[in-house]
Amino acid sequence: MTLSYVHPSPDSPWGTYLTQIDRVIPHLGPLARWAETLKRPKRVLIVDVPIEMDDGRIAHHEGYRVQHSLTRGPGKGGVRYHPEVTLEEVMALAAWMSVKNAAVNLPFGGAKGGIRVDPQQLSRKELERLTRRYTSEIGIVIGPQQDILAPDVNTNPQVMAWMMDTYSMNTGATATGVVTGKPIHLGGSMGRIKATGRGVFVTGREAARRIGLDLQGARLAVQGFGNVGSAAAELFGQAGSLVIAVQDHSGSIFNGAGLDLSRLVPHVQASGGVAGFSSAEVIDAEAFWDVDCNVMIPAALENQITAARAQRLQARLVLEGANGPTGSAADDILAERGVLVVPDVICNAGGVTVSYFEWVQDFSSFFWTEEEINVKLDQILVGALGKIWDQADRHHISLRTAAFAVACERILTARQERGLYP
Ligand code: NAD
Repeated sequence: MTLSYVHPSPDSPWGTYLTQIDRVIPHLGPLARWAETLKRPKRVLIVDVPIEMDDGRIAHHEGYRVQHSLTRGPGKGGVRYHPEVTLEEVMALAAWMSVKNAAVNLPFGGAKGGIRVDPQQLSRKELERLTRRYTSEIGIVIGPQQDILAPDVNTNPQVMAWMMDTYSMNTGATATGVVTGKPIHLGGSMGRIKATGRGVFVTGREAARRIGLDLQGARLAVQGFGNVGSAAAELFGQAGSLVIAVQDHSGSIFNGAGLDLSRLVPHVQASGGVAGFSSAEVIDAEAFWDVDCNVMIPAALENQITAARAQRLQARLVLEGANGPTGSAADDILAERGVLVVPDVICNAGGVTVSYFEWVQDFSSFFWTEEEINVKLDQILVGALGKIWDQADRHHISLRTAAFAVACERILTARQERGLYP
């Protein structure tokens, strides 16, 4: 039976996720009996988030927290502020968190949150009020052992600090572990800010090695130059690759000799986007997908690699920094064309892996060095990707289906062992 409260199209995030689950079911053996549980979020919370604006108006925003699965541990997943956030999108993002956490074998379920708002239109005080009210509204389902929040699109360490403070004030005790991605002096972890981008680099480096692609001189295109895209671009740059094209919400830029990242990063920090960057040619948004590159890194939003773009993509390797950037039809086209896709559930798992380290450090109040964090992150991701790669080779399936097979087997084994209550 399909859910009555969402009506996904095949290319919508939840529709894409359902197709991914359908594709893994034949590989689950007797556990397939439990597969329907993956097609239904455990818990969906929709909240009204009213705030008083600086000019005295009252503005209402729709907020969500979806707990897709709590079978393997507490919920874990970011909170997105975006004017086009929908319940269905948050459901898909929560489900991908369940799969991601299981693919990397972290002791978490999967959850995600969002507020339908354009944060660029809010003052700092309005943003703080919005964050505090949202955190209070979802306070009934979150907690260090229940469901742990983290940054996503348009949320950052300051937003995490307000969330942690609000939850702590409401419960009467400082609870650093309810949120990860916090500022360092509030119990944040070294290495967390760049962890997702670092994970894209680590999994990309491994994939490139396995397919014989030399990163030295490799040409990269990156969509999204925020937390994930910029950190990944910098690490590839340090490995000798050339970032030749970048697209973000403000525009698309190109330089065949390689963009100067040491100038582009501060430019984006200062102006909010790549638009206006000198020493680069402005290109059309659609032409971005045609650039002659070896590696494409989508690191913005869902469903960016459509079927039409998949036909034209020049890259040999796609590294999914974003969640759900490739639709199912596009996935098939890329596979037919021999383009290797390192799927989001492993490619961008570096963020949640260091979030896990942060959560553990908060409980023990003992903090690790950045080097320790980066070494452990590398080990976990290389090990997880290796297991997924073996599975893909053994069963002649894509890395995505293999990652889902590894993850869903873990989730459904836990489901079966726990049994149904009551
Ligand atoms: P961010 O807010 O820091 O950056 C988002 C980037 O996307 C910005 O450069 C923005 O300009 C760009 N963008 C937005 N709309 C766009 C559009 N229509 N076309 C082109 N570019 C557009 O967000 P982030 O944290 O870097 O997240 C990016 C992606 O990575 C999301 O899919 C997110 O779910 C995923 N992700 C993030 C983390 C994390 O730790 N932050 C972890 C795992 C996955």
